[in-house]
Amino acid sequence: MAAPRLLADEMVGRLARYLRMMGADTVYARGWTDDEIVRRAAEEGRTVVTRDRALARRAGSALLLSSPRLEDQVREVRSAFPALDPNLRFDRCTVCNGRLQPYAPSPVEPAGRTGETDLARPGVARFRCAECGHLYWEGSHTEAIRRRLRAWGDPGANA
Ligand SMILES: [Zn+2]
Repeated sequence: MAAPRLLADEMVGRLARYLRMMGADTVYARGWTDDEIVRRAAEEGRTVVTRDRALARRAGSALLLSSPRLEDQVREVRSAFPALDPNLRFDRCTVCNGRLQPYAPSPVEPAGRTGETDLARPGVARFRCAECGHLYWEGSHTEAIRRRLRAWGDPGANA
C-alpha cells in the first residue's frame, strides 16, 4: 500500500513534521492562500490536512482534524490512512519533504566535523536529504521520537 500524499496547512506545522518522520509525503503550505492550497492539492493529488472547516469543504480531498492536540491529530491521520507506517522512518526530510538517502561520511572527511557526537559514532545509521542536504542519524533524540509515536499509537495511552 502506498503512503498517503498530504498537504498540511499552516496551522498544523508540528503535525506535518511528524508525518514526514513517519514517511508520509507531506507538503507544508506555509504562507499560502486557500486558493493556492486547493489548487496545488488538486494538481498533485494530495489530501489537505487542516483544522479549517471552510478550507476542508473547498478541497477535493480533505481530512478535517477535530483536535488541537498533536498526539490526537497523529491518531486522526492514522485512522484515516491505515497504510501510513506509524513508526519513525528515514524517508522524508522534516525540513523540506525531500527524499532521504543513506549517507556515509567519506574517510578523508572527519565524521565529527559537525560537533555532533551521535553522528560521529561508528556504525550509527546516517541519512542525508537529497534536496537540502540536512543530516539525520539514529541517537537518543530518535529513541524519544519512537517512544512518543508508540505511545500515541496505543489507543489506551494518554501520554
Ligand atoms: Zn531537506
